[in-house]
Amino acid sequence: MLLLDGREVSKQIIMSLKEEIEEYQKKGLRKPSLAVILVGEDPASKIYVRRKREASEKVGINSICINLPSSISQEDLVQEIKRLNDDDSIDGILVQLPLPTHIDTGEVIQAIKPDKDVDGFHPENVGRLATGIGRGIVPCTPLGIWLLLKHYKIDAFGKDVVIVGASNIVGKPMSLVFLKDERATVTVCHKNTRDLKSHTSQADILVVAVGKPKLITRDMVKEGSVVIDVGINRLENGKIVGDVDFENVKDKVYAITPVPGGVGPMTVVSLLVNTLHLYRLKHGFPPHLFAQI
Ligand code: NAD
Repeated sequence: MLLLDGREVSKQIIMSLKEEIEEYQKKGLRKPSLAVILVGEDPASKIYVRRKREASEKVGINSICINLPSSISQEDLVQEIKRLNDDDSIDGILVQLPLPTHIDTGEVIQAIKPDKDVDGFHPENVGRLATGIGRGIVPCTPLGIWLLLKHYKIDAFGKDVVIVGASNIVGKPMSLVFLKDERATVTVCHKNTRDLKSHTSQADILVVAVGKPKLITRDMVKEGSVVIDVGINRLENGKIVGDVDFENVKDKVYAITPVPGGVGPMTVVSLLVNTLHLYRLKHGFPPHLFAQI
């Protein structure tokens, strides 16, 4: 079994991004910069924001964290985003999700200028990804998974890909990545899928992004397949596990991601890639190689 080591691969990408930023600075260009908006005090969101910030600093991206109270109005939040849209020194804007329930997440995402939408969630960027028209931004988790597969020379061409989970953040954009240029045959499963096993057991590449420990058991995967576990679940004993029963699945498959240490670090590194990608486009450079799928 091949362990798809996101920690190691992300380290390698981080090194190369760091060198790239040093080159920009030698040319007298300013540092790329990323603004992260955190609304409220959600502990998990705080951890994610901290990780993003630490990773940005490691490569030399200037990261600005804007903490706003959970009581903030929709209007004030949108105003803050507009201020960042107009600030020429900011390349990427990220609003950490989820937002408090009184805020309309869709409206907030649409307030971000598509050229600064580092998460790729704006409908304009989703549309670009879906149609191949224009230069879109691939959302970080699907991009990270794509980079991981590429690193291990796992080719999706002509394969049967099954994605479990159809969220706007992971499942749906992941399906678009595999559909690009009609590479793979893609099936997307979700909570209303009638017989999950009948789909997952046919998958050459299985991507699982649900948020339920041990949803995918040994009998549900195809022998010799590639399994990508996106899930992050905290068990009562504090242990972090994915959605796949890793211990029982691992010796049946060709390759699998661990949790933690698989998709998570690749998601963070993709945020840096997307920030650099937007920075490059703004400076009239060709798109970033790692941001291309
Ligand atoms: P979400 O809650 O937005 O979507 C979950 C999806 O799973 C939905 O499409 C739902 O229909 C589907 N689903 C629910 N129960 C199901 C079932 N029994 N069978 C099949 N499908 C079912 O979640 P999300 O934001 O896409 O995140 C999914 C998981 O991935 C979570 O555990 C999250 O923490 C994790 N995640 C990890 C990373 C990372 O970088 N590793 C990034 C994003 C999300």
